[in-house]
Amino acid sequence: MVRKRVANHQVTAHAATTLERIRLVRKGKRLTGHHRVFGAAYRLLDTNQPAPTVTRSGFRDFIHPNKNRVCTVRELARLQSFPDTYVFKGRRCDTYAQSRYVQQTQHEQLGNAVPPLMAREVGRELRKHILVHRRKDSKERADRFATVFGPLDAAYPLTDLGNKKNPLDELIYILLSRRSREKQYQRSYRELRRRYRRWAEVLKEPRAQLVRALKPLGLANQRAKAIRRILTTIQADFGRTTLYPLKGMTYSEAYHYLRSLPGVNDKSAKCVMLYSLGIAALPVDTHTLRVAKRLGLVQPRSSLFTAPPQLESVVPRESRGRFHVLAVLHGRAICTAQRPKCHVCPLRSVCPSARLPNRSS
Ligand code: SF4
Repeated sequence: MVRKRVANHQVTAHAATTLERIRLVRKGKRLTGHHRVFGAAYRLLDTNQPAPTVTRSGFRDFIHPNKNRVCTVRELARLQSFPDTYVFKGRRCDTYAQSRYVQQTQHEQLGNAVPPLMAREVGRELRKHILVHRRKDSKERADRFATVFGPLDAAYPLTDLGNKKNPLDELIYILLSRRSREKQYQRSYRELRRRYRRWAEVLKEPRAQLVRALKPLGLANQRAKAIRRILTTIQADFGRTTLYPLKGMTYSEAYHYLRSLPGVNDKSAKCVMLYSLGIAALPVDTHTLRVAKRLGLVQPRSSLFTAPPQLESVVPRESRGRFHVLAVLHGRAICTAQRPKCHVCPLRSVCPSARLPNRSS
């Protein structure tokens, strides 16, 4: 039943010859051959049969089951399960005017659309498939983590990587550690601390002084610029150079604040959260990523962007800090980027990537 107040239900005016052809069609049948007009086959809908799908090429075909006329846009929309609140915009009928190439008519929009009921069902099936697959995959990786964590934990008595309790100290420490060797950035951090007892002092002297202090570490200009920009932002936000106000924040608040600071990436933010704010974040650096991939804790083609959520789903919150330390130590000492020392690795019997003399892989 078409109600007048429903949009898109205007009846198309038919020429006398078209009406004549429409009357020729028998219920549930179509008019073909020499009777085709503008490519339309004229199908008379049968109320006892399921309606065919409305397609871009056949939308003009559908003849109303009880009236001698083609269906309106609204009637076709109902056949396609569109709610009556859905309004098709623009020109109603198909024409051969130039405008049809720049704007779809209402009939075209309808013929090109995926019916909402079908879209909902397809979406439901896809979601089910993805979730089941992900749950299964995640369970396997969690089991794998449980297998490797113990031997790894026993192999490395060292409990920290020199991380700092003060969140601003930690942020600068991590910035220095980027693209530099451990001994170099440790020395550089000590040198900065000796020179600046408070980080606010960095902003009181010319940038060249900081550049000079960072020279032995390399990338001195970029590092000095980044550190000064971060300190300036923090000073403006909190009135002093400290990150202690983050202590009371939630995971999401602390993460978003840290990521908003100039040049602070995912790993740096999570290191500050994990080591200085007591938040169970899991930083993923190149060592962690490599070790996790080789151990099968994340998908083999994971990147620094895609691995963090996968790892967080398999590493329990209480083990994240320890796992990060272990992954870095193991990545530096044994599971190195080039030529991993699998023959002395404590995980060689459970690691799917182990390269041992008696294994072909
Ligand atoms: S067995 Fe080899 S690849 Fe596997 S974790 Fe140990 S060093 Fe890395």
